[in-house]
Amino acid sequence: MTDRLALDGGTTTITEPFRLYNTIGDEEIQAVTDVMKSGVLSRFTGTWGPDFLGGPTVREFESAWAEFFGVKHAIATNSWTSGLVAAVGALDVEPGDEIIVSPWTMTASAIAILHWNCVPVFADIEPGTFCIDVASVESRISSRTRAIISVDIFGQSADVAALKLLAEKYDLKIISDTAQAPSALYQGGYAGTQTDVGGFSLNRHKHIHTGEGGVLVTDDDHLAERMQLIRNHAEAVVGPMGVQTLNNMLGHNFRLGEIEAAIGIEQLKRLPGLVASRQRIAEEITEGLADIPGLTLPVIRDDATHVFYFYPIVLDRTAFTADRATLQSALFAEGIRGVSEGYINLHMLPMYQRKIAYGSSGFPWVPGIARSSISYEHGICPIAEKLHEDTFMKFEMCKFQMSNQETQLLVQAMRKVFTHFLV
Ligand SMILES: *Cc1c(COP(=O)(O)O)cnc(C)c1O
Repeated sequence: MTDRLALDGGTTTITEPFRLYNTIGDEEIQAVTDVMKSGVLSRFTGTWGPDFLGGPTVREFESAWAEFFGVKHAIATNSWTSGLVAAVGALDVEPGDEIIVSPWTMTASAIAILHWNCVPVFADIEPGTFCIDVASVESRISSRTRAIISVDIFGQSADVAALKLLAEKYDLKIISDTAQAPSALYQGGYAGTQTDVGGFSLNRHKHIHTGEGGVLVTDDDHLAERMQLIRNHAEAVVGPMGVQTLNNMLGHNFRLGEIEAAIGIEQLKRLPGLVASRQRIAEEITEGLADIPGLTLPVIRDDATHVFYFYPIVLDRTAFTADRATLQSALFAEGIRGVSEGYINLHMLPMYQRKIAYGSSGFPWVPGIARSSISYEHGICPIAEKLHEDTFMKFEMCKFQMSNQETQLLVQAMRKVFTHFLV
């Protein structure tokens, strides 16, 4: 294409901003109105009794979720961050125990570990899928390792089959953080439902949302009960319930309200359609860019589907005459929004770099609690670091509701920029 780039004063390809993603329709509005008219906006009580597990809409939402995902228990929480905290607490963890987690995830996946005075240990990621790398996980296992938090990042499952073999070999639990991959398929089942505990976020920008919210899933009765307890003031309830295992029975108020649950019931019905349309758009982008050398387009695992929270692109820097920042500026100048460089490396956050979490003296990374050799130094996750610093870009599909014409414009703008800078 000989078109002059918008960056150099040429014509901008995309002149109208894309419509923002909005999944809320009349059904949600009606469902909220019905709850409002009932006058009961939450029916949870933090004492043992019929309302300990929530109101009728929360329970209906949980049943619908359990049925859709084919799990025994679905437990609604007021965010997936809360869900992650409940999931880690439900495991039999001790202060200083280690949980291996990906550095490429939303910050809460690791904070849930620290919340119980456990220690996050970061393993590197796979260069193609950006999910946690199983060999790297194995290299991080110590006598203190209790669990793995596997993140189905950007919309597809981690290599859960291989992680489960490790878990069996070393007697570890696995928690799946499937916030970004609801209804992604993996080996004949849904991502998030194939490990000890999984869960989803219902925060804005996720495929479906309730404003704020989360759902834990598990087939394990014992873990389900512990998560329900942590969700709702555990310490006050264990006595009347006759619960014997008191470790980590510290409760919270992680309860979802009836209004959010009512929205969630309607949103869940929309999930298959929303995911299918996201997949169609991603497919069109991939077809549109496939012949451009120097771009690695989404790598989808065999026997899996991708639901495209983000559309990831890896640059072969030797194929382009410009660096990533210039490409990004040129894409922005063409009117593309939602494309950004890099992702995150949680281990580089100041808290991990300085090992300061609880108080000011380094707890829980202190002698007598944690092993002294836990490292968060730059260099521990070379693949994740290189991708973040140099070669990874993403289109944040989750932000937009794109028409066919908008998808075509996006492809046209991307082609214009990438081909312009080809070596
Ligand atoms: C969104 C997200 C979370 C947190 O979910 P909230 O509902 O916002 O608390 C956790 N992990 C990942 C991977 C996420 O994308």
